[in-house]
Amino acid sequence: AKAAGRNTYVLYGPELGKTAHARVDLRRALRYAVRNGELRVHYQPQVELADGRIVAAEALVRWERPGHGLVPPNSFIPLAEESDLIVQIDSEVLRHVAADLQCWSENGFPLPKISVNVSARQLYRGRLLDDFRQVLDHYPAARGRLEVELTERLLVDAVPQNRRVLDALVDLGVTFAIDDFGTGYSSFGYFRDFLIHTLKIDRSFIQQLAEEAADARITLAIIGLAKTFDIEVVAEGVELPAQQAFLCQHGCARAQGWLFGKPMPTDEFIAHWKQARAV
Ligand code: C2E
Ligand code: CA
Ligand code: CA
Ligand code: CA
Repeated sequence: AKAAGRNTYVLYGPELGKTAHARVDLRRALRYAVRNGELRVHYQPQVELADGRIVAAEALVRWERPGHGLVPPNSFIPLAEESDLIVQIDSEVLRHVAADLQCWSENGFPLPKISVNVSARQLYRGRLLDDFRQVLDHYPAARGRLEVELTERLLVDAVPQNRRVLDALVDLGVTFAIDDFGTGYSSFGYFRDFLIHTLKIDRSFIQQLAEEAADARITLAIIGLAKTFDIEVVAEGVELPAQQAFLCQHGCARAQGWLFGKPMPTDEFIAHWKQARAV
């Protein structure tokens, strides 16, 4: 537990969570933030590599903390994951995304698919299904438009009870992506046991695609795996045209990364999207 504590400590980043005291303060501030609407959702486009069209986006949470600016998730999600705070945050993000989808729909935009990140705790506490039911009831335009990003670890740990939750979500029209694929407890079992819609190739393999033969081979293997199982594949963290070219040439149809757009607030995302459609 000590070692895990040390590892998580690193994740808090330099300015936050330095001491136990600071963490208590941060937790209190975060609890207040969730209640008082300080959380923001940014969208990062996912594009079709062949034509640059935006086909989907990932919702990424930010905390607009008074006096601190826009706080990135790595500075507070690990802390939130130690308690039920993460459940509240993920619920809030889901509601936000569904409301945006509803609003875009009412304004006549063709809707992209939006993926949301969920934590193991949210799934295991059984709240995830209730959240989706409520949100889809309230914002019907979000039906068939939501994808849940899960980590491999979360799937490996899935007990039958959690499996039922995932199955029920599938029945609601929710699809699943495996996030950071290749970095976790990769197991072929979940291709048999779960309905996986998308594999997201972790950024760490994409970063040195041109320089590291092993990274290129791993990327090719993941693309092949996705083809075999007829699963959508998305490369994460694409920053360079050379990476784009490699992926395009080797049959990876979709990508997400700074080359195509950073995570951005709703208005900016809409503008970006309209522009991408115009070209
Ligand atoms: P993730 O799910 O793997 O999200 C991708 C991260 O990579 C995002 O960082 C994104 O901004 C960043 N990224 C995207 N393209 C590039 C690129 O080309 N280059 C580089 N260097 N980075 C890129 P972000 O937004 O800081 O989020 C960090 C992590 O926080 C996420 O990793 C996810 O695990 C977690 N997270 C974010 N939002 C939520 C949320 O609403 N709920 C939960 N439970 N976790 C979240
Ligand atoms: Ca993700
Ligand atoms: Ca990822
Ligand atoms: Ca991640």
